[in-house]
Amino acid sequence: MELLTDINVRRTTQSKIAEVDFADLEFGKHISDHMLVCDYVRGEWKTPHIVPFGNLVANPSTLALHYGQTVFEGMKAFRMNDGRINVFRMEKHYKRFVRSLERMCMAVVPKEIFVEGITRLVQLDQAWIPEQQGNALYIRPVVFASEAKFGVKVAEEYRFIIFTGPVPALYADPIRVKVERDYIRAARGGTGYAKCGGNYGGAFLPTLQARQQGYDQVLWTDARENRFIEESGMMNVFFVINDTLVTPPLSDSILDGITRDSLLTIARDLAYKTEERPVSVEELKNAFATGAITEAFGAGTAAVVAPIGTIGIDGEDYALPAYTKMSISSRLKLKIDRLRSGREEDRFNWNYII
Ligand SMILES: *Cc1c(COP(=O)(O)O)cnc(C)c1O
Repeated sequence: MELLTDINVRRTTQSKIAEVDFADLEFGKHISDHMLVCDYVRGEWKTPHIVPFGNLVANPSTLALHYGQTVFEGMKAFRMNDGRINVFRMEKHYKRFVRSLERMCMAVVPKEIFVEGITRLVQLDQAWIPEQQGNALYIRPVVFASEAKFGVKVAEEYRFIIFTGPVPALYADPIRVKVERDYIRAARGGTGYAKCGGNYGGAFLPTLQARQQGYDQVLWTDARENRFIEESGMMNVFFVINDTLVTPPLSDSILDGITRDSLLTIARDLAYKTEERPVSVEELKNAFATGAITEAFGAGTAAVVAPIGTIGIDGEDYALPAYTKMSISSRLKLKIDRLRSGREEDRFNWNYII
């Protein structure tokens, strides 16, 4: 690939790869040898640098630490069957990154720096891409307000960093989720559709309380009436009701998940019935009563599909049938896995081969 962006590269002399047990990976534990760093100063993005991964030095008045201008992405690179490297849906991740940055009034990273930065970084650390089917190299781009000045204001300086790390395929056991009626994650007009730091910090307390009550995650409801389901923890949510794959419609309080979009596209292609429409808590209760609901699952890059086994609604637990290879969620997940690894034709042009 012909690169448009000048990227300075300083390679490490001490790779840490020998410390990794690729047969027993843990999500978020290991970080690859290099990172990309690029600064935005006086209205322009400077030359990106790839340097050995290491700590940052921060002035205590760094604006991001006080007023929360931070935005991230989460995506994955895979080693394909034929040995090539695939960054799944790079384009769509970039577009979402831009939407998040714009919502937070932050400098937008140019596409060449994003795409070529990821390409160079992943090429350089390609030994870190797990070979085992389903495992992947997680890619974490992040931008934060790096200007040191403590008045409340939109920052004029930003730092863009990309680092990566090997992660396992999460074969999650079905989880227990609780319909959250007191706390909310996002409201109309808010920042729910952006991948900005504050959305996650604000979700920890309700999640912790749900854990104390014996659940793994919360099912967020809308901010106005606490009546319509929005997302499952930090994942989009799907239900199978009357053999139809149903998910709440996108709005400014629901994150436009790349996995959500991939699942819907594949389901339609396989001629499953799909609906993007509001799902109320009453509808779920009725669907349990009549047996119309057969599956519920979270959807996100980390697990692709996280099956839900139990939904707690206002103090009562409702159980879903066991998941099998025949479940719609399992079939869709398998299809995505096959497409990403090159075992199936990339008909939607989702693979970015580097
Ligand atoms: C990242 C995220 C998702 C899932 O998005 P993917 O692109 O599929 O990984 C869903 N909801 C929230 C709140 C998220 O932050």
